[in-house]
Amino acid sequence: GFNCGIVGLPNVGKSTIFNALTSAGAESANYPFCTIDPNVGIVQVPDERLDRLAEIVHPERILPTTIEFVDIAGLVKGASQGEGLGNQFLGHIRSVDAIVHVVRCFDDENVVHVSGSVDPLRDIEIIQTELALADLDSVEKKLQRVEKQAKSGDRKLKDESEFYARIKGELEKGVSARHVEVGDDECVWMRDLHLLTDKPVLYVANVAEDDLDGAHPFVAKVRELAETEGARVVVICGRIEAEIAELDGDEKKAFLAEMGLAESGLDRLIRMGYDLLGLITYFTAGKKEVRAWTIPAGTKAPQAAGVIHSDFEKGFIRAEVIAYRDFIGSGGEAGAKEKGLMRLEGKEYVVQDGDVMHFRFNV
Ligand code: GDP
Repeated sequence: GFNCGIVGLPNVGKSTIFNALTSAGAESANYPFCTIDPNVGIVQVPDERLDRLAEIVHPERILPTTIEFVDIAGLVKGASQGEGLGNQFLGHIRSVDAIVHVVRCFDDENVVHVSGSVDPLRDIEIIQTELALADLDSVEKKLQRVEKQAKSGDRKLKDESEFYARIKGELEKGVSARHVEVGDDECVWMRDLHLLTDKPVLYVANVAEDDLDGAHPFVAKVRELAETEGARVVVICGRIEAEIAELDGDEKKAFLAEMGLAESGLDRLIRMGYDLLGLITYFTAGKKEVRAWTIPAGTKAPQAAGVIHSDFEKGFIRAEVIAYRDFIGSGGEAGAKEKGLMRLEGKEYVVQDGDVMHFRFNV
């Protein structure tokens, strides 16, 4: 599956948020093991469209899609130098697809701050520096090796070593790998470096109970920084989310309504994590089940079918596709067909978010 690693300094609220994410998932127990490992949680992606589809199809069950969150605790200043269990944690970050960076924006004298005071920008910088130092280490090792090989006079190896030298220079200036412009032929080299600062990042501003409106100056600072990076920010109160996660569906709705919120912060976080991973959803809608399936944006029909079963991909003939809007607007499949809104698509069709799909295949 696709996963987001939750990182941040100690005592910023990572575990509180992670536990709320996974216990909220455990509530609607379609998935028997919501927690594979104490630090990995499978989380359902909330999607109202499933309910709308179910109102029309009346399936036996509704199955949302899921993503994984990984709680990566223990990142501290000096981690890249092996401080704490430094390298181990950096290794965990290497294995995730995207980073959810939790930043402490709440003051609470009962919760110790590792650096003595609450300062979101300093905290972000500490984490970024550790990631960049770890990356520098990777790039330097690679550079040394390829530089030596390039002495043979091979043009391609020379280009490659120049590329690493450039990345090294940018990292030293404090530029994250994801912000370095990379040419088409350089992409592979970049990808193979598996740099931590190349992963997409989303900031979670963990605020006090009274600051959910996001007006606190701490949040403004995080937003300002995120904007310069083209990153998004979710404002959450970990404490409140932990309470909401304990509630069942109706209680949860009532609680949110009372607080004047349309949805929980976690639901927003999950959806933003999904976007951050570059994922989209298509649906299958039958009597047995209405179900959401996850694919990376840009996936073509046969590979999308392969998410359901590898035989669907191997034997793919064509897909019958109805856009979500058309499906709902026509009161279901029969209505959409009648209006000519069902399309037959072939191997080259790029599946769109919300497509209601039916695959035809050879066995
Ligand atoms: P982690 O070390 O980043 O995983 O942080 P924890 O989730 O263990 O939280 C550290 C402490 O901060 C705990 O005592 C939490 O109860 C507290 N905490 C977490 N979120 C909030 C919050 O939104 N408001 C307040 N006041 N305390 C919080």
